[in-house]
Amino acid sequence: CGVFGVYAPERTLEVAKLTYFGLYALQHRGQESAGIATLKQGRVYCHKDMGLVSQVFNEDILEQLPGEIAVGHTRYSTTGSSLKENAQPFITETRLGKLALAHNGNLVNAVELRKHLTSKETDFVTTTDSEMIALTIADEVNSGKDWIEGAISAFKLCTGAYSLTIATPDGLMGVRDRNGIRPLVIGVLRGESADGERYVLSSETCGLDIIGAEYVRDVNPGELVWITDSGLISVDWAEKGEKKLCVFEMIYFARPDSVMHDETLYSYRIRLGRQLARESFVDADLVIGVPDSGIPAAIGFSRESGLAYGEGLIKNRYVGRTFIQPTQSMREAGIRMKLNTLKDALQGKRIIIVDDSIVRGTTSKKIVKTLRDAGATEVHMRISSPPVTHPCFYGIDTDNQDQLIAATKSVKEIGERIGVDTLAYLTWEGMLEATQEDTNHFCSACFTGDYPVSIPEDVKRSKLI
Ligand code: 5GP
Ligand code: SF4
Ligand code: MG
Repeated sequence: CGVFGVYAPERTLEVAKLTYFGLYALQHRGQESAGIATLKQGRVYCHKDMGLVSQVFNEDILEQLPGEIAVGHTRYSTTGSSLKENAQPFITETRLGKLALAHNGNLVNAVELRKHLTSKETDFVTTTDSEMIALTIADEVNSGKDWIEGAISAFKLCTGAYSLTIATPDGLMGVRDRNGIRPLVIGVLRGESADGERYVLSSETCGLDIIGAEYVRDVNPGELVWITDSGLISVDWAEKGEKKLCVFEMIYFARPDSVMHDETLYSYRIRLGRQLARESFVDADLVIGVPDSGIPAAIGFSRESGLAYGEGLIKNRYVGRTFIQPTQSMREAGIRMKLNTLKDALQGKRIIIVDDSIVRGTTSKKIVKTLRDAGATEVHMRISSPPVTHPCFYGIDTDNQDQLIAATKSVKEIGERIGVDTLAYLTWEGMLEATQEDTNHFCSACFTGDYPVSIPEDVKRSKLI
């Protein structure tokens, strides 16, 4: 999912529009539903629906969302089914007024939290863990705490991955879980108020760029930022938080123009491709990438190996990412809509095809067949991440373990299944080294099964073979 938030009391007619553009840039993080909630003098205005940001909103709707503060959300489902009621932001009543919350991530202790809330006779509207976070905050606030104290007490009950933007009548809150598994950045709109600055929160820096906000810094793991008329204050709510950023965000999920660790992910992905070429060179006539996510690594592979880079597959820009569609049959139909070959570029050539990951193997198999149909004489597949052997419990929809092709098959067997001449994956070490950061500061559990936030046994059993 993508989350966004803006605090700009001088622009009550524009906060919704700023959020709209922010969400527009974060569309890749979820295409199932979109929503914006604004707060104007404590009153909440909200519009959310199934579909893309551009389908859910228009000028008229945005004009009906005035406020000093706005939060927004783009969703793809990990828990809770794809229903309109599950669209975010969630609105909840508290003794201090209404709050609107947008969540990216996934709680691993949702069952426990639900029991805790049920014992207090809380009513649920939806089936999602995100609503439970909102209700837990409301419950803590209603016991007499202020927004910050109440939120902190609630976060101490929430285990798992969450980056949140929360609008309240008194200010805008941004939060990351104690491990900072999902990203969240702070930006500033300059020249807005008497002292010059108004703050923006976004899942990725591409959401700041689109509205001309300047990147300030990341929200830290275990940090809460509270944005009001007097500026931004920071509270470390989780003692001893340890950074465990999702490495899949860097490899695949986040946009290549977003910045993490002071560089675009495009640059990181080029390095992955270079490393891949060092680890698994094979001679060929042309290196191509699977659009869009495999392209930077393909360019890196070409630069490092000295083999020519070119385009071989063209993507229909108006079809969404296939993996966001909920069912297997829809996914299979999706890929046929999505990619076409450049036949004259491929005819009679030995091709190296680079992609960021293989999850189920269905996309890759189709791509290989398409390349052969176009006349490629050899197809060598290179993957810029290690085999995905374990499901994600922290908000990326890699499905149950039995659907992950690398959970039960060797690299050789996968190669045979998808029909390539050779297949090689990047090593785990190579992937982490290329981050140029402390390698302990990442979650890479879908490649290792080493989950940094422990998963309750019943939850584990639901997804593991
Ligand atoms: P597959 O061959 O596993 O069906 O699909 C691999 C390709 O689809 C890669 O290009 C990857 O970017 C994308 N992909 C498909 N499904 C998923 C998914 O569930 N999670 C992620 N991260 N990527 C996926
Ligand atoms: Fe990211 Fe994989 Fe960890 Fe999930 S398990 S948070 S996808 S690295
Ligand atoms: Mg891809």
